[in-house]
Order: sequence, then structure tokens, then C-alpha cells
Amino acid sequence: MPGDRWIRIEERRTAEGGSIGIRVDITDLKRREASFRLLFEENPLPMWVVDVNTLELLAVNAATCRHYGYSREQMLSMTVEDLRVPEETERLHSEFRQNKGLQTAQDTRRHITADGRVIDVAIEARPLRYNDRDACVAVAFDMTDRKRAEQRILHLACHDALTDLPNRAAVDDQFSRVLDDARRRGGGFAVLCIDFDRFKQINDLFGHSMGDKALREASRRLDVAAQGVFLARIGGDEFIAITEKDPLPSSAELLANRLRGALERGIEIDGHCFDLDLSVGISVYPRDGEDARSLFASADAALYRAKHEGRGAIRFFTPAMDQQLRDRNALERELRSAVGNGELFLEYQPQRHSNGEIIGFEALVRWQHPRRGTVTPAEFIPIAEESDLIGEIGEWVLREACREAASWNDELQVAVNVSAIQFRRGDLQGVVRTVLHESGLPPARLELEITDGVLIENVARAASMLNALKILGVRIALDDFGTGYSSLSYLQSLPLDRIKIDQSFIASLGRTDRSLAVVRAVIGLAHGLGLPVLAEGVETNDQLRTLIREGCDEMQGYLIGRPRSVEVYADIVGRDREDPDHASGERRRLSPAR
Ligand code: C2E
Ligand code: MG
Ligand code: MG
Repeated sequence: MPGDRWIRIEERRTAEGGSIGIRVDITDLKRREASFRLLFEENPLPMWVVDVNTLELLAVNAATCRHYGYSREQMLSMTVEDLRVPEETERLHSEFRQNKGLQTAQDTRRHITADGRVIDVAIEARPLRYNDRDACVAVAFDMTDRKRAEQRILHLACHDALTDLPNRAAVDDQFSRVLDDARRRGGGFAVLCIDFDRFKQINDLFGHSMGDKALREASRRLDVAAQGVFLARIGGDEFIAITEKDPLPSSAELLANRLRGALERGIEIDGHCFDLDLSVGISVYPRDGEDARSLFASADAALYRAKHEGRGAIRFFTPAMDQQLRDRNALERELRSAVGNGELFLEYQPQRHSNGEIIGFEALVRWQHPRRGTVTPAEFIPIAEESDLIGEIGEWVLREACREAASWNDELQVAVNVSAIQFRRGDLQGVVRTVLHESGLPPARLELEITDGVLIENVARAASMLNALKILGVRIALDDFGTGYSSLSYLQSLPLDRIKIDQSFIASLGRTDRSLAVVRAVIGLAHGLGLPVLAEGVETNDQLRTLIREGCDEMQGYLIGRPRSVEVYADIVGRDREDPDHASGERRRLSPAR
């Protein structure tokens, strides 16, 4: 009818042969019907009606067809069973038996689309009568993306982004699981602390992106070598493995060896080949600890030991290590107060030119420990470097050495060792400037001895740092040359004033031809760059003669003089032996002598 009106027409014949016509305005009904159909048919959510007894699909909307990838005809010849993954068929039947078509969208079902994709859907369904059948109408919410996102977040929370290995959070979970299990069945397990040796070098020399690539490849190999044993990356180049494999502890050692073996073949990245090795510390439950804290601490102590006993080692925890670690920690605690208590002091070792003249002294720090006696720098400098004490100690040494040297003969210089850590952290240039100013020592008489450890971090940064120091007018010597990562390219790019050949080469002079070759090469190289060479650790006249013959410029060692208190060298530095200030043992600045 005009105006989109609908009229239902009914005609009935009467017995008399007449007819009765009934006209009913059904416009409202029609509109409601249309909007209901629209609600179902055009609903953006997949909806369907299913027979709760036969599970046949009785009606499907367009969204269902689109979502599942079937035509309507196909779908109307299917049952809901065809929509579920086969593994859930059993569950589907029991759902319908129990709920008679009532479902709430609390948990998800796994459905399968026409092209075989598995999707996660939540279904909300209500029973109804449809064409005289017991049925239900269902709405489906596709949760696949959300579920994936949730899983991804869950995965990220317990996996390391770089290597995709489990992370520290996962270690805690795994540990408590394994611990519970071991307690219940009275078994054991082993914790392995794993650390790459000198991995920092790759980052330092080739940049972090190369370091990351190497780490990814190394992690992948370790994961394969772990053969299903739990392996996690807990930081930089540190990993943890937890194994319950019998027989312990040998299975743990086997695992550690397998992990090391995985790195035997160098790692090749962008045309560079990296040789990596790792150190492993192992603790075993319950022998080495009964809870997470003690087991990790024990494995860590064993790792610490492995690292300090040359790299590439595998060590089981022993109670002695615990003692060593405790000793070390005690030493660190005591070192903290040593500077304040005035327990540090300097000895000076003379440096001599090949013409026989003393050119200066190297200041070497010692620690007069109240109980242990004299502690050597080889023992406490590494501890100071591992803690945050090196800055304070380094500054003290510098101040003390400059104050002392300011009182010496004008031409004598003082050499002070600077730790790589001091170089990296803190304001070394500022400290040196202040100390020079305070002491009045002419900058040219101060020589800073650096090792190539300072260069390894970042050559460009080290170079600019050295240049900043050079601006102050101090000299720079490269200490222990030949032992570290010494690369010839450094020599050229850095503002050095002197190279010190490491004493190990001098000690073996005359015993191996190779050291002579090294000494000769270093001297040739340094002279080529216009740098003088000082030989360390000269103990015999034979060594001295050889060095002079090879053209070595300067020498230092027991033959020339041992590190001693400055009073021993009073006549060289130009001070009176009977100086009352020194006799009283005070180490203060004296009025500049001569
Ligand atoms: P270094 O700078 O290479 O110092 C030379 C070391 O060789 C000193 O050991 C010295 O006593 C020793 N030495 C000298 N001549 C001979 C010799 O003829 N034969 C032998 N066998 N050894 C000789 P020291 O004093 O124990 O120092 C060890 C290392 O500790 C130093 O090596 C240096 O790296 C570090 N060190 C010393 N003092 C300081 C300091 O004030 N600050 C920092 N950061 N490190 C320091
Ligand atoms: Mg030195
Ligand atoms: Mg040295």
C-alpha cells in the first residue's frame, strides 16, 4: 500500500455463498519482522540457530558465512560439529547434553574455518523454538587476536626479547617447580650459572648490533645443546640452566660440557668470526643449598671461581669457595674503611733511562691491613674495581703521588696507574686538574699509566678522554703492553707518550726466542711511531744488556730498584734522609726541595 503500509486480506465464504472480507493492518508486525531479520541477518557478529538434538545448523547470518568462509548453502547442510576442531567433539556433545543450548561466553572454544584456520571463539547461546524444533540461537565472539595478544604478553613477560629464551621471571617459576618436585620425591637437581668469557669485547669492538647478533646465535646454539633442559638468559651474557637429569652431579657436568661444545665452532657474523667460550659454576640441591637464595649464591660462587681460574672453566661449588667468597666480601668491607683509616700507602719504584739516569718513579699502592699485614694491589685493586671503591682509591693515590712528587727534583716524573674503571666512570680529567692544582706539580711531570682495558670499551671515547687529559699537559703511558687486547691500530690513533712492555716478556727473555721477537717488534713499532719504550720487570744484567742492545729506551725492575718507601730513594729525589717529617713517618707534602 502507499506509504509502505501492509494490509493482510482474508476472505471467507459464508454458507450462503457470500463472502466476508477481513482487512488487518499488519504494518507494525511487518516492520518488526524486518527489523528482527535485519538484526540477525545483518548483525556484524556471527550468529546461527542450531538444532540442539541433531546439532544441524538451521539458520546462519551473513557474518557467519564471511567469518567461517562457507556459502550459506554449505553451512545449512552442516552441523556445529563441523565448526569445532576434532579434539573438541567430545566436549561439544557433552555441552549440548548438559546445557540444552544454553551457553555463556566465559571460556573459549576452538573452531575451524573453511580454509583450516583454527580460531578461538567465545559463544553466547539461548534456547528457543525454531520451526517447531528445539533449538538455540548463538552469537560468536572471535577472541583469536585478543588471545594471541594475551599469549604474546604472557610470553614476553617470561621470555627474553633478544633471544626468546626464558628470562629471570621464568627462572623463579621453574626453580620453585623443580624445588617442590625434588622435595616431594626426595630427589635432586643442579643449578648452572653460565657466563660468556670476554663477551664485552665483541660489543666494545664491533658495536652492540653485532654483539646482539652474536648473542642470538650463541643462545640458539646453547638452547639446542641444552636438549630440552631449562635454559634462561638472565642478563647481558649470563644464563641459568636447571637440570633434574639423573645421575647428578655428573649430568650437570655433561650439560656444561655440551654447552661449551656448542660454541667450539666460531660464530660467524657479517664476515667476522668470533670465538666464544663460557665459564660455568654449578650447585646441587640439597648438598649446596636448600633454597633459591643459597643455591644461586653457591652456583655464583663457583662461577666466580671458574672465571678467576682462567676462563672457559667448569666448577662445582665447594664449601671452600663459600669461605673464599666470604673472605673476599670481608676484604671489600674492610677496604671501604681503609682509605679513611689511612691504611693505604705508596711505594715508589725507580725508572731508569738506558744512559743510566733515573728519570722518575712509578707510584704503587699498598694496603697496610691491621691484621693481614701488607696486602698487594694485585689482591685488592680487582676488588676495588668490582665494587665502587676504585674511584676513591684512585683519587687518593693520585693526590698522594702528586703531593709527594711536587717535593722532588724538578726533572723527575711520577707515574700513576689509572684503572680502566676510573677511566670509564667519574670525571678523571676534573680530578687530575684539581690534584695538579692542589699539589702544584707541573703537569708534564705526571704520567698516567693506562692499560688497553680502557680502550676496549669504546676506542673513540677513550681517545677523546685521553686528548682531554693531554690538554692538561700530563703524559700518557700504555702499561702492560702485549698482554691484553693490544691492537696495533690503537697505538696510532691515541696520544701516547710511552709504551711499557709487560714484564712477562722480559722475564722470559733469554729463555724463549719468541719473547725476544716480541720485544724487538714492540721496540721497532714504537720507534716507528716516535714513542719511547720502557721495559718492565728487569731483574738481571743479561736482560738489561739485551734490552740496551735492542734499543730499548728505559727500564724498570728489581735490578734498578724495588718499589720502596720514598725515604729509601731520598737522595735520588733530592731530599734529606734525616728529614724530621719523614722520620716521624708522616706522609705529607714537604716544602719543595732544591
Ligand atoms: P704494574 O703497573 O705493571 O706495576 C708493576 C708491577 O711489577 C708492580 O707490582 C711491581 O712491584 C712489579 N715489579 C716491578 N719490578 C719488578 C721486577 O723486576 N720483577 C717482578 N717480578 N716484578 C716487578 P705491584 O706493585 O704488585 O702492582 C701490581 C699491579 O697493580 C700494577 O702493575 C698495577 O697494574 C696495579 N697497581 C698498583 N698500584 C696501583 C694504583 O695505584 N692504582 C691502580 N689502578 N692500579 C695499581
Ligand atoms: Mg704500572
Ligand atoms: Mg705494568
